[in-house]
Amino acid sequence: MKASAFSYARATSVANAIELLVAHGERAKVLSGGQSLMPAMNLRLVAPELIVDIGELKELRGITVDRGLVRIGALTRHAELLKSREIAAHAPLLTEAIGHVAHPAIRNRGTIGGSLAHADPASELPACMVALDATIIARGPVGERRLPATEFFTGIYETALSPQELLIAVELPPAPKNSAHFFCEFARRHGDYAIIGLAAQAIVENGRLSDFRPAFFSVGDRPQLAKAAARLVKAAVTPAVLSDASKALSEELDPPEDQQANSAMRRHLAKVLLARCVSALLGRPELSAGRPL
Ligand SMILES: Cc1cc2nc3c(=O)[nH]c(=O)nc-3n(C[C@H](O)[C@H](O)[C@H](O)COP(=O)(O)OP(=O)(O)OC[C@H]3O[C@@H](n4cnc5c(N)ncnc54)[C@H](O)[C@@H]3O)c2cc1C
Repeated sequence: MKASAFSYARATSVANAIELLVAHGERAKVLSGGQSLMPAMNLRLVAPELIVDIGELKELRGITVDRGLVRIGALTRHAELLKSREIAAHAPLLTEAIGHVAHPAIRNRGTIGGSLAHADPASELPACMVALDATIIARGPVGERRLPATEFFTGIYETALSPQELLIAVELPPAPKNSAHFFCEFARRHGDYAIIGLAAQAIVENGRLSDFRPAFFSVGDRPQLAKAAARLVKAAVTPAVLSDASKALSEELDPPEDQQANSAMRRHLAKVLLARCVSALLGRPELSAGRPL
């Protein structure tokens, strides 16, 4: 199938892109890498009258580390994140997760801003933003807004962005020296969207976890920070404590059923992921031993 007819405008600056979005409202769509928008248009799931191409706006590209914050421009491509030394040093969870996003050809064009604005609940990067306590920066006709990642994702393919706003960057606090991360997803093939996945970061001191942020994806309409994790924070984690947290997780999640998995299977996999995560973060393989898939 081919996309419906549409007009095309190449934005010359962020201000120009916002002017176009203000003038055309919901009839316009921003184009970044096109890896989600173009397939959706070709399937006629969306039919914008105007495409606002921001791909040439160099000010939206690149990674900087300044005054204790890692800032990633919205147009930074997945492939650039994957090979960035700054990201490997300050946000190693992201480096690990990006390797699971689609395939090299898509990672060469797809951007972090596009992935977050697209807000697919099965997507890796939104969950990483929640796990890393990122701030998402939007700019619109009345200026800039800074949104915590936990408030940015509002539903399936829905975010707190208004139709007149551009996502311009994300900011991450750099991983503390005594932090550890975990990323794992179950997918039918490497590069496919996940059936379920978990992105997490924690501080590990004296064999205990603090600031533990496990963000599950593909378990609902948006990434979900597991409240059950509180039972594992600052605790001496025994199999009984982990089992208690797993039970709480199971009660907290209400995963959807689709062609890939039913709700019970996703619940089961979430518990397996939590055990693997805690075991990996604490360096205690016995905590996930004997947990069959
Ligand atoms: C075969 C295939 C497999 C894939 N597998 C995965 C996967 O496993 N995991 C995964 O996460 N993704 C996957 N993707 C999606 C891919 O990662 C996309 O690159 C990404 O979701 C969107 O980035 P983009 O720059 O291409 O955005 P675009 O396609 O250009 O835009 C996506 C949406 O975001 C909006 N948008 C884009 N940029 C901005 C901005 N700066 N401000 C406001 N709105 C904006 C657009 O209007 C559009 O609605 C896959 C895609 C394909 C085709």
